[in-house]
Amino acid sequence: MATDPMATDPITTTPETTDPIMSPDKPGAAATESQWLFPDLEDEDAGPFWQGCAAGELRVQTCEHCGAWRMPPRPMCPQCRSIESRWVTTSGQGRVWSFIVPHPPLLPGYSELAPYNVVIIELIDNPLIRFVGNLVAAPAAAINSVDPTSIAIGEAVHVTFEKLDDVTFPRWIRQ
Ligand SMILES: [Zn+2]
Repeated sequence: MATDPMATDPITTTPETTDPIMSPDKPGAAATESQWLFPDLEDEDAGPFWQGCAAGELRVQTCEHCGAWRMPPRPMCPQCRSIESRWVTTSGQGRVWSFIVPHPPLLPGYSELAPYNVVIIELIDNPLIRFVGNLVAAPAAAINSVDPTSIAIGEAVHVTFEKLDDVTFPRWIRQ
């Protein structure tokens, strides 16, 4: 960040982020919220994904040229190199492909909830598309609401959405 408080150059006054989807400190977020990872809702590639979540839809970027689905979102198709893409709304149905149980040291907001689960979900619509998320006991339940020892690889889940601040996150609940 710029050291000159009067600087107006948007390049030097914009906080740098290392990840196009998740930034560690959302500008303007309250102190307690800055302990969490928030996505950049205006990101050129991932923005439509988050807009879909806000609308209650799990959307995936697809190639307009060859039809290949891709996740995470990116500017170019890895199959045919086309930069033309469109978004499709999925069924939101999935299966647990893998999971882990994070333990501290973690960011403060997450440390208080540990141990919790982080699941990788493969989509029924296209099993090559996988999402990283959390399995929760019910919509809006905490990310530690499911006993990690009860999670089974391959179990059926479907998406739900939880709004935190101005961001709507996809979560997963059992069928
Ligand atoms: Zn393509």
